[in-house]
Amino acid sequence: MPKTTSPTELNATVSGSVRNLVVILGDQLDASSLALESFDTDQDAVLMMEVKEESTHVPSHKQRTVLFLSAMRHFALDLQSRDFRVRYITLNAPGNTHDFTGEAKRAVKALKPDRITIVEPGEYRVTEMVESWESDLDLPVDIVEDRHFLCSTDSFNEWADGRKEFILEHFYRMMRKRLGILMDDDGKPTGGQWNFDKDNRKPFKTTPRTPKPYTPRIDDTTQDVIDLVNTHLPDNPGTTEGFAWPVTRDQALRALDKFIDERLRKFGDHQDAMWTGERTAYHSLLSTSLNLKLLDPREVLDAVLDAHAKNPIPLNSLEGFIRQLIGWREFIRGIYNHQGPDYADRNGLNEHGSLPDLYWTGDTDMACMQDCVGQVLDTAYGHHIQRLMVTGNFALIAGVHPREISDWYLAMYADAVDWVTLPNTLGMVMHADGGIVGTKPYAATGKYIKKMSNYCDDCQYDPATRHGDDACPFTTLYWDFLIRHETRFSKNNRMAMMLKHVRNMDREEIVQITTSATSLKKRLGVTAD
Ligand code: SF4
Repeated sequence: MPKTTSPTELNATVSGSVRNLVVILGDQLDASSLALESFDTDQDAVLMMEVKEESTHVPSHKQRTVLFLSAMRHFALDLQSRDFRVRYITLNAPGNTHDFTGEAKRAVKALKPDRITIVEPGEYRVTEMVESWESDLDLPVDIVEDRHFLCSTDSFNEWADGRKEFILEHFYRMMRKRLGILMDDDGKPTGGQWNFDKDNRKPFKTTPRTPKPYTPRIDDTTQDVIDLVNTHLPDNPGTTEGFAWPVTRDQALRALDKFIDERLRKFGDHQDAMWTGERTAYHSLLSTSLNLKLLDPREVLDAVLDAHAKNPIPLNSLEGFIRQLIGWREFIRGIYNHQGPDYADRNGLNEHGSLPDLYWTGDTDMACMQDCVGQVLDTAYGHHIQRLMVTGNFALIAGVHPREISDWYLAMYADAVDWVTLPNTLGMVMHADGGIVGTKPYAATGKYIKKMSNYCDDCQYDPATRHGDDACPFTTLYWDFLIRHETRFSKNNRMAMMLKHVRNMDREEIVQITTSATSLKKRLGVTAD
């Protein structure tokens, strides 16, 4: 059971001289990180900071903030129990400046360390801040490698440099070979193919009865944080009710075990399926623990392969999960670092629409959006198809500005950190990076949502109708999107089939679609009246 602590203990004063001040951020909760490798409990100290800036630069979902702060507090407490000196600044600590540089300055003034050590941050904004500390604080700052990842930034750059296109499948095969995962002795992929994605698209036929994920007990530390967030950030979106995220390494390991025992075997079959009120399906929900570094991807991989060795897991499930872990996750992080800070400003489709209010309220008559956004407001979670093909697809085809929807994803999902969210949203969802992450936009009509869910059964709209009052907004906006970007996509072979349909439309239908789309976008607030 996790030990609990009071804010008074966390705010305990660090006394004595300090040689090395190790700064640990909220997504760096790895006790075996390089920054802590040569930590000397007599001479060194840790600095951890809760600052409002991190929950308000985008209006972070209350559960996301609770997760970060509670996990940080538990991590600090664990360090303290092992005699680490920890200067921990709580959100409501007297004198909290509420930004990292302000707190680093106060810590340096109080502790007079010889140097600062920090693991490379996972966000350009924070990296820039940390890089200024050497001159701002007038002492050496060592920014050390984040060893959490299976593919270092240098290795990724070596793979990427000189390539015209960055194709996930190529990166994934390289990782499989390099790590020797699901490879036969003759160098061929286990099961005779690299990818079983086509077996991973089965919809649910009836209300699924999925085993529920591990739910940790809310201890006093988490309850303190919940109270704090409700008091200090009452206007942030979402609710703290029902908070159920692992906040310690021990809890994260239990969540991993439960996923492997109860859900992994069916993960593949229903990876892309959605159903009203079904919040997790067979997904792992391990991304929060991985992204906070409570779990190491190597131990997740080992645990999954170990379970497979004892009792074989269907290959489409095993390969599908491993592809997410060693393929997609590492690929996205590599792209983020390879592309540099200006990646965030890309807007390859030149879209400038506003994000509709319904993304913050869930108030809409579209049954799919109501379920997916409502779920995010309640739980700070949605699985990848809900994110890509419902909330993301809608923003893409409605022409929302890519940064508006990217900031929404960063704010609203418990597992959101910048290196994950930016390439996933700007690249994969919004096709704003010119095709670096995805070679074609993931645009779809309501017919795709109908095929993969039951959402349309109780919706007032018709996914097969392209325009008019009864038309599914996804379907109208999809065709409007293709009409709008026909010239731009005309050289993309993967778009040829879709564009052929547009070219076969008569003039009257095109006018009806664009008229319906224009009034829809005005009604939703994407474009001004
Ligand atoms: Fe969503 Fe369209 Fe289906 Fe309604 S008809 S649930 S808006 S896809």
